Amino acid sequence: ATPTSLMVGSGMGAQRGILIRNGEAIQTMKDVNLIAFDKTGTLTRGTPEVTEVISTDEVTSQEILFAAASVERSSEHPLAGAILAAAKEHEIELVAPTSFSAQVGKGVTGEVAGHQISVGNRKIINFENLPENLRIRAASLEDEAKTVVFVSRDSRVIGILAISDAIKDDAKDAVEALARHGISTAMITGDNEKTARAVADQLGISHVIAEVLPGGKVSEIERLQEVHKTVAMVGDGINDAPALKQANVGIALGTGTDIAIEAGDITLVRGDVTAVVSAVILSRATFRKIR
Ligand code: ADP
Ligand code: MG
Repeated sequence: ATPTSLMVGSGMGAQRGILIRNGEAIQTMKDVNLIAFDKTGTLTRGTPEVTEVISTDEVTSQEILFAAASVERSSEHPLAGAILAAAKEHEIELVAPTSFSAQVGKGVTGEVAGHQISVGNRKIINFENLPENLRIRAASLEDEAKTVVFVSRDSRVIGILAISDAIKDDAKDAVEALARHGISTAMITGDNEKTARAVADQLGISHVIAEVLPGGKVSEIERLQEVHKTVAMVGDGINDAPALKQANVGIALGTGTDIAIEAGDITLVRGDVTAVVSAVILSRATFRKIR
């Protein structure tokens, strides 16, 4: 690119909330064949809320919230924030867990009032102990695009929490616009397959890569690059940073973590998904004639 075209491009980008940190990347953007999106906080608002508390016969929903939130006090995961907010709303007094451990991509475990409490997905509970009615209920909540968190006490599942994170208003239009520009889309998430699929279906994203461990996003980008050659990744989290670096163009949301912003080539200042489309248009308009 000539210095002038790059300057024009950057100036136009700023108006649309696109901050270009690496001039080469905005040039590469015109050649991108596939854009991979993180789910939580990128396609969804990242403000999860507990919508249902479902208990087994042996406990009340208050007891479930007490147990789950007491353990989650020690976690910084966004799901923990949602569970703590629900406990607060129901004016449940929490205790400090006497032990605590977090298991990446699974959930948390701690001792609360003499009981071993685990809170997380199917990987952290004893699946054989999951009552049939809860299993069916969990699957149908996941089909509604909700994330189901299982709560177990001394290895027995005592209930489930359904957590909903609204899809951003502009996400569907943005995905559709990318398709019109001939760009494929994919979603990469640590969340479970069913929930991820339900969110993707609402957006028209057909390629879903779910249950990816935090360290696994890089190799998923590498695999996408083998097929699609030039790949952009859009994300907001600490987990996304290595994948943003691996992608041909790393796009961080300005609403995201500093670590993601540092790793990205481009920052979408306002955190809107539509700005990804603007970046493609801007790149094609600015660099089309340059050989
Ligand atoms: P993501 O942020 O994309 O959901 P993570 O790797 O952080 O990816 O989490 C993957 C999954 O692990 C979550 O969807 C959830 O099921 C479970 N999990 C992780 N941490 C917690 C936690 N503190 N409480 C409950 N579930 C958790
Ligand atoms: Mg995220």
